[in-house]
Amino acid sequence: LPQVVFAGKSNVGKSSVINKLLGRKNFARVSAQPGKTVHINYFVIDRKMYLVDLPGYGYARVSKAEQQRWGALMETYFALGLLTVGIQIVDIRHKPTRDDVTMADWFRASDKPWIVVANKLDKIKKSQLEGNLAEIRQTLLLPAEVPVIPFSAEKGIGRDEVLAHIYGYIGKEGSEQ
Ligand code: GDP
Repeated sequence: LPQVVFAGKSNVGKSSVINKLLGRKNFARVSAQPGKTVHINYFVIDRKMYLVDLPGYGYARVSKAEQQRWGALMETYFALGLLTVGIQIVDIRHKPTRDDVTMADWFRASDKPWIVVANKLDKIKKSQLEGNLAEIRQTLLLPAEVPVIPFSAEKGIGRDEVLAHIYGYIGKEGSEQ
């Protein structure tokens, strides 16, 4: 089955984005304790794909040992070469962090399709949109073919566009097999 991989900084709204995309309320747990997942969750969706939920990164209070564990987990997952499409979630309000850049490096090196979901669109002014999207693109060194999709898990904005990308990439892989 194709693997759709979700990654994002702790508290960026990864669980909320997943729930919004799936149209379910409590599929992924909206976290009270950020940074506490240190394993990869796999879910089979509609017998069509794996949703792969990578642990949130960049939580300020994690120890060096936990950071190293996160890195080792990424190394293992990406070395398997199993992902079909990567979904990286960032906060549209802020310049991506160093950890976001590291995550982007993993996706870029994988040579698989990858999209960036810029969440919490409802928290910025319209006038900030273009500038913030450009800053995300520049900071993450996104190749031209990687889209940055403004999203609000709170308001449900961007859902159809993200789903269209996901299904486009899953369909392509399916027809190659
Ligand atoms: P995770 O740790 O990345 O899985 O993040 P969560 O899904 O647990 O969300 C973290 C916090 O951000 C929660 O309080 C959510 O209600 C809030 N949140 C998530 N998405 C949005 C959004 O699009 N807009 C706003 N305003 N808040 C959001």
